[in-house]
Amino acid sequence: MHWCPECGTRYDDATVACPSCRVVLSDEPPVESGAPIVVHRVPDAAAGALLAGVLEHHGVQARLRSTTLPGYGDVRRDWGTSAWGELLVAPADANEAREIIAEYLAALERGGAVRDEDVEEGSGG
Ligand SMILES: [Zn+2]
Repeated sequence: MHWCPECGTRYDDATVACPSCRVVLSDEPPVESGAPIVVHRVPDAAAGALLAGVLEHHGVQARLRSTTLPGYGDVRRDWGTSAWGELLVAPADANEAREIIAEYLAALERGGAVRDEDVEEGSGG
């Protein structure tokens, strides 16, 4: 088996290069380019899903992780917050994700509701 180091797609031995990325495949499974980074903490599952959706709308793949799942226990009491969970993105996306979330939350503060133009690229007529 070979893997594309760019996109992580797995190919069989007959394939030597990724047709999508045009890079030579590696014998090694792709290593993650770094541990995901927490960009935001959310008070509940609904808020987490909402923000994850906003990020994905902007092309940022976000992962929602609950910190209250069994197994976490009380290992992170230093939080001092009642956060339900956290949003994680790849390190390369962290800055963009933070900006998107900041803009989204700012829009909420401004208008009490998010306007279409804040989240949509523009709608066709
Ligand atoms: Zn590829």
